[in-house]
Amino acid sequence: VGGRAAVIAERTFARAASVDEAVAALAAGARPVAGGTDLVVGARQGKSPLPDALVAIDRVPGLTGIREDGGALVIGPLATHRELTAHPAVLRRYTALADASAIVGSHATRAQGTLGGNVMNASPAMETGGPLLCLDATLTLTSTRGSRRISFAELLVGPGATSAEPDELLTAVEVPDPGERAGSCYVRLEYRRHMEIAVVGATALVVLDGSRVADARIAVTAVAPTIRRAPEAEAALTGSDGGPDAVSAAAEAAAAAAQPIDDVRASAGYRRAMTSVIVGRAVVGALARARGETIEVPAGAALYGLGG
Ligand SMILES: Cc1cc2nc3c(=O)[nH]c(=O)nc-3n(C[C@H](O)[C@H](O)[C@H](O)COP(=O)(O)OP(=O)(O)OC[C@H]3O[C@@H](n4cnc5c(N)ncnc54)[C@H](O)[C@@H]3O)c2cc1C
Repeated sequence: VGGRAAVIAERTFARAASVDEAVAALAAGARPVAGGTDLVVGARQGKSPLPDALVAIDRVPGLTGIREDGGALVIGPLATHRELTAHPAVLRRYTALADASAIVGSHATRAQGTLGGNVMNASPAMETGGPLLCLDATLTLTSTRGSRRISFAELLVGPGATSAEPDELLTAVEVPDPGERAGSCYVRLEYRRHMEIAVVGATALVVLDGSRVADARIAVTAVAPTIRRAPEAEAALTGSDGGPDAVSAAAEAAAAAAQPIDDVRASAGYRRAMTSVIVGRAVVGALARARGETIEVPAGAALYGLGG
């Protein structure tokens, strides 16, 4: 008991009131905690111990909110999944992100968990990663040395690992408007509807020119060490009429390029087979939305039986 008390006594917890205070704490070695649904819950589950120094950023003004700004959506890292799912612009123009946030955990997880925490935790199964990749998001990282902007694609370097320095705070997520003729969709394979992690996830974003697919972006989740785009699948869809043959070709190409692993939740073979099905559903959902059809958020159930 004495040893445990001594360890606890070495830990520090502070609450930042500004970005300057938060980055000063990070420079001194503290880890940020936003909603705590990864960091604190993970420590309680024994995944990794709490860091010795924590700085809470949950009340820092300037890290909150979602606003449209000159053709882009600027999302504060403290925006919760519940806020993202309720935001009219996210639902209308950045719909894959709404699909993703709408299925994170439970009501409580979505009210507490933030976009910044989801991104910086860098799980290969994180829900918002595929949408941010396909939507070409740019991140602002801030430290006592100043701010720098990187593409979301540059952030993810491995399971649970990012290219951000330990003293860098994510201070903004910027997503360009994909345009009037774009539609996007995120779908995951899940064994139950709530409190689940993606066995396989897929995001598709398509831009139409008339009835043809002028641009296609496809990302796969939980079938590689990081969430990644699937260029072979994108090539199969781009320039096509978006019909069933093109959707199947894209889905098969994504499955062929997947690098799934065996784990307690699924075998690699099952994951690869399901990649085709889930990518097919995401593409069908994105095409439907680009054509102006309504696919409710979250998209999953409306697409059962389609695309695979
Ligand atoms: C019951 C349950 C169910 C869940 N279900 C899902 C799910 O379905 N899908 C899913 O993707 N996730 C799920 N999660 C994981 C988690 O809820 C999300 O990843 C959430 O978005 C994390 O946000 P947070 O603010 O709580 O992060 P925190 O726990 O506060 O932080 C997570 C990590 O990010 C770092 N961090 C936080 N903010 C910043 C910042 N601004 N700059 C730099 N680093 C930062 C922290 O230091 C920490 O390393 C679930 C969690 C629980 C407990």
